[in-house]
Amino acid sequence: MSDKDYKFNTLAVRAGQVRTAEGEHSEPIFTTSSYVFSSAAEAAARFSGDEPGNIYSRFTNPTVRTFEQRLAALEGGERCVATSSGMAAILSTCLGLLKAGDHIVASQSIFGTTTVMFSQHLAKFGIETTFVSLTDLNAWQEAIQDNTVFLFLETPSNPLGEVADIHQLATIAHDSDCLLVVDNCLCTPVLQRPLALGADIVIHSATKFLDGQGRCMGGAVIGKEDIVGKDIFGVVRTCGPSMSPFNAWTFLKGLETLSVRMKAHCDNAQQLAEWLQAQPAVSAVYFPGLKTHPQYAIAQSQQSGPGAVLSFELKGGKDDAWRLIDATEMLSITANLGDTRTTITHPATTTHGRLTPEQRDDAGISDGLIRIAVGLEDIDDLKADLQHGLAGLI
Ligand SMILES: *Cc1c(COP(=O)(O)O)cnc(C)c1O
Repeated sequence: MSDKDYKFNTLAVRAGQVRTAEGEHSEPIFTTSSYVFSSAAEAAARFSGDEPGNIYSRFTNPTVRTFEQRLAALEGGERCVATSSGMAAILSTCLGLLKAGDHIVASQSIFGTTTVMFSQHLAKFGIETTFVSLTDLNAWQEAIQDNTVFLFLETPSNPLGEVADIHQLATIAHDSDCLLVVDNCLCTPVLQRPLALGADIVIHSATKFLDGQGRCMGGAVIGKEDIVGKDIFGVVRTCGPSMSPFNAWTFLKGLETLSVRMKAHCDNAQQLAEWLQAQPAVSAVYFPGLKTHPQYAIAQSQQSGPGAVLSFELKGGKDDAWRLIDATEMLSITANLGDTRTTITHPATTTHGRLTPEQRDDAGISDGLIRIAVGLEDIDDLKADLQHGLAGLI
């Protein structure tokens, strides 16, 4: 049976593994920077690309390759290229697909650092970005120019949980000969498979749910062989934002439990969102699993679960937000997400702190907003910890 015939949960555990002569059960970590050849002719054939095989770990490492093949199988993509971080995955995609004078249309509700990369760092090289509302299909359509190469989005967005219709945006992109790039970090392939919905490229920060335990930095780009295997692999191979074998091994272990973890994350997040909605100090809860969510129907049709990132607004603004965060005893005050441990963040002064006040306004990040990335602790303990702080606010 080839990997292709297996179902998702089997692929998550077994895809991509090639056992060595030692017969190891779990995947080994290949900590070697280079590889030896049996002859000068073999070395020449490997370097020229006439013969496949390992050359140098910046671009060929067996542990990294196993991770790439397993994640490609889970996303339903032909090829995956692993990178040293999620930002390195986005940068490698940009370097691979864009040149000076090109244009990107991006959602204004993407990861804050991605906004900074597009609007400051890529702009220096003559690449322009137009930011639009994630959910306004007309705005996407109108922002496309002759020199637009791709549309870039995250859905659901972080921290507000807005949901975009991937299929419709893929159609808009393809009608204008553009690609659709989706950062699938918040859902993982367990909850959403953008390639099957029409997207061309999927980006991951493996640092988040793929690891799932807050240990390692990594990223990945998944899509067709002729884009990811050529343009993007070419950048990683030459420019060097490669994934370390140790990190690849950690992510392989993460993928093996991804499905059960995502289900547990979603269950906890759903219960917490419903509980927060009933709290008097809370004026709004943003979570795609709530029936009151404006894109609830799209989320139901394109995702198999709501995800585990939610945010809520406090009536008392920044002072109350900081007071609530400081009153928690168990929740971790950190900007990471996708960890077994629940984290609490004040986006306006941390993850979105480098945006201009105007950009923050456009992205809907108010001073009273708190984000929670829900972990795997007992739901009763999560509620009790937040209850301390909430009780003091009214
Ligand atoms: C964290 C994150 C990134 C960046 O990933 P790093 O691994 O931190 O470089 C990109 N996109 C989203 C949605 C993220 O949450």
